[in-house]
Amino acid sequence: MNAIRTVEIKMQSGVVTLNIEITRELREEVAYADGYNIPLGKKVHENMKITISHNGKKVMDTNWMPAVIRDVEKKRYPATAYAILGGKVILTEANYNVVMASITEATAEVESIAIGDQEYSEIKTNEITAKTMKKANDEKAAKEYARAVKNGLCPKCGTYCYGDCGAN
Ligand SMILES: [Zn+2]
Repeated sequence: MNAIRTVEIKMQSGVVTLNIEITRELREEVAYADGYNIPLGKKVHENMKITISHNGKKVMDTNWMPAVIRDVEKKRYPATAYAILGGKVILTEANYNVVMASITEATAEVESIAIGDQEYSEIKTNEITAKTMKKANDEKAAKEYARAVKNGLCPKCGTYCYGDCGAN
C-alpha cells in the first residue's frame, strides 16, 4: 500500500521535482540461523522515500525528512534557506511547508488505506500493544531495581552482600 505526492520547486537552475512515496506493508521476517531459516511471521514495514530530480533527471533518493537548518549553521547558507533535503536541496520556509504538508497528506492517505486492511490492522495493533507492554514492564523493572538498591541490594555484585564483595 502506498500514497504518492509530487512537489515541484522552481529554482534559478531549473525545476526540482520531489516524488514523495509513503509505504505501509507487511513483510515476512526471517531470522537466519546456521543452515536454516526461522520464519518470524509478518511485521509492519513503514517507509518514506523522496526521489529528487533536477530538470527531469534523477539526482538521488532519500529516506529522511527535510532537516531544518540550525542557527549555528545558518551563515553557511543563503539568507532564505530554511531547511535541507537529502543534503542536496535547500528549501525556503514556504517550500519546506509545502513538502511537509505533502508528506503529512500522503501519510494520512496510506494510513487510511492500511487501516482498512484487516491483516495489516491486526498486526499493527498487536505491535503497538507489545511495545506498550514492554515499556510498562521496563518501567516496572527499573522501579523494582531502584527499590531493591535502596533496601540494600548491591549494584556491583547483584546480591545483598552488604559490602562483602568490596563494592563499598
Ligand atoms: Zn556486593
